[in-house]
Amino acid sequence: MASNNESGSTQIAHTSTQNPSTKGELCRKAGQLVGLIEMPVDIFIEVGTHLLPPDLLSLARASRNIRKLLMSRPSAVAWRRALENMPCLPGCPDDLSEPQYASLLYDRNCHGCGAPWIEKVIFVLRARLCDPPFGKKCLDRLCARETLHRIRLTHPRSHPV
Ligand SMILES: [Zn+2]
Repeated sequence: MASNNESGSTQIAHTSTQNPSTKGELCRKAGQLVGLIEMPVDIFIEVGTHLLPPDLLSLARASRNIRKLLMSRPSAVAWRRALENMPCLPGCPDDLSEPQYASLLYDRNCHGCGAPWIEKVIFVLRARLCDPPFGKKCLDRLCARETLHRIRLTHPRSHPV
C-alpha cells in the first residue's frame, strides 16, 4: 500500500519537473503561465506573499514578463513577506535588495564560474563561491565581472577592452 502511494507521488513529481524537450511542449508550458500573467497585479502580489523565497526565484525565472513584474516596485512587498515566511532568517542587509538576498541564500550556483550545488556563502563578499583551490579563480572572475559592471554603470558610453 505504502509503495503504491510512494510510486504514485514519484510519478507525479517526475512529470512536473521534466524539462520541455520540444518547441511545442515549451510553448504549451509557456501557455500555462498566461493565466498568471493576466492576473490582476495586486492579486498576483498577494499570492506572492504566501510563497517562499525559492518559489519566487523560480517564478521570476519562468518568463520575462513575470520577472519584470516581480522585479517591479509593487512586488517588493511579496519578496519581503516571502523572506518573513522563513523562520529564523536574519533580516535583509541594507546593501542588497530582497530578490538579491533571496538569490544569495537560495540559489546554488557559484557566482564566479556558475558551478552547481555550491553550499558555502561568503556573506562578507555577498557571494557564493567554489571551495579552494578553485575558489580563488572564481573570486577573480566575480571581481572582474563586478568591476566591469561598475565601469559600465559609471561610464555607460565606454567600451571596455
Ligand atoms: Zn566557482
